[in-house]
Amino acid sequence: MKRSASPAVRILEPPPNPGAIRWVYVHAPYCARRCFYCDFAVKVAAADCDVWLDALRAEIRALEKEGVFVLDDALDTLYVGGGTPSLLGAEAMEGLLIVIGEERLRHSEVEWTAEANPESFTREVAKSWRRAGVNRVSLGIQTFHAPSLQWMGLLHGADGARSAVRIARGEGFTNLSVDLIFGLPAHLERNWTRDLDETLSLEPEHVSLYGLSAESATPLGLAVAEDREALPSEEQYEQEYLLAVDRLAEAGYEAYAVSNFARPGFASWHNSVYWSGEPYVGLGNGAHSYRHPVRRWNTRDWDAYRAGTEGPGPPVDDEEELDVGKVRLERIWLGLRTRRGISLRDLPSSARDRAARWEESALAVAEGNVVRLTPRGWLVMDRLTVEMDAELGG
Ligand code: SF4
Repeated sequence: MKRSASPAVRILEPPPNPGAIRWVYVHAPYCARRCFYCDFAVKVAAADCDVWLDALRAEIRALEKEGVFVLDDALDTLYVGGGTPSLLGAEAMEGLLIVIGEERLRHSEVEWTAEANPESFTREVAKSWRRAGVNRVSLGIQTFHAPSLQWMGLLHGADGARSAVRIARGEGFTNLSVDLIFGLPAHLERNWTRDLDETLSLEPEHVSLYGLSAESATPLGLAVAEDREALPSEEQYEQEYLLAVDRLAEAGYEAYAVSNFARPGFASWHNSVYWSGEPYVGLGNGAHSYRHPVRRWNTRDWDAYRAGTEGPGPPVDDEEELDVGKVRLERIWLGLRTRRGISLRDLPSSARDRAARWEESALAVAEGNVVRLTPRGWLVMDRLTVEMDAELGG
């Protein structure tokens, strides 16, 4: 798969808004249990693949009837996330291929990713995913430290990750991504350096890093609010992030976005589309779709979503129209979070001065008309986004 390098984000230009959509996210709702920190749209229940596929089929029909978020005849990327897609059983991706339409996915350029948790990524699942055409697997490993896995509520043990990678490689997957979580509470005594070493020894093509956060609606959020649990210090959070960036760079992974690291040629195309402002479709409960200037999201609760697919239109919960200010803020944020950076061309001198001050503080580097954040800048990306927006009238 050859992808052309994307240019820096031009903030004052409207995002593209072409015809039928070539980037699709599909949400798999089921999980065996809810992790301590998770606020995703998840249904804790035995996975029912047929019901899932029926709901998606109905949603695609409704979208075709509505005629706004219509899938193209050939997709560029399909990303199946969750939830736990690997819990849907061996035949799920072959079923999804039929629901989406074989002709849309049977071409050599498509990037088809499916997420898996190690304990449900069996050899049968891997074989079937390969047959369907999945060519990228994203493994939710998070850590190799057994007490931390237990604390999070994940079901795989320390060996689960190694065995899942062996299975994937054995079935011929040559594009593996691994999710790791950093910033775990200090009392768990998780050894972050050891986790990075273990990860590198598995030689994945791609690594995603996520910092633990305590969302208020989660058991972790409640525990933190009630002082029964404490997040790590800011210092620990920053040290772990910067250590990971260094180790991954030494091992040949490029930091192409704040949380994403890839060996040459393995940056996720699907991720890049979210950040480019191109339109995309999300199918399934809680999934978001975007076509400038409208963003909308499906009903989050799985049962309500399913009931919605039996209605006259798509099972949409709500939508928002992005005004000029929101588009500008979003484009600054999207540009700063990636290696593409933002283009300073056409921006007023105050914005250039602001970028120069970032550079003096080692938060950014400028090359010609483009400014990109450094890893230290990524740690304060939200603040820098607001600063740049203020220079542009926000
Ligand atoms: S496996 Fe993932 S989606 Fe499921 S509950 Fe845990 S964190 Fe949430």
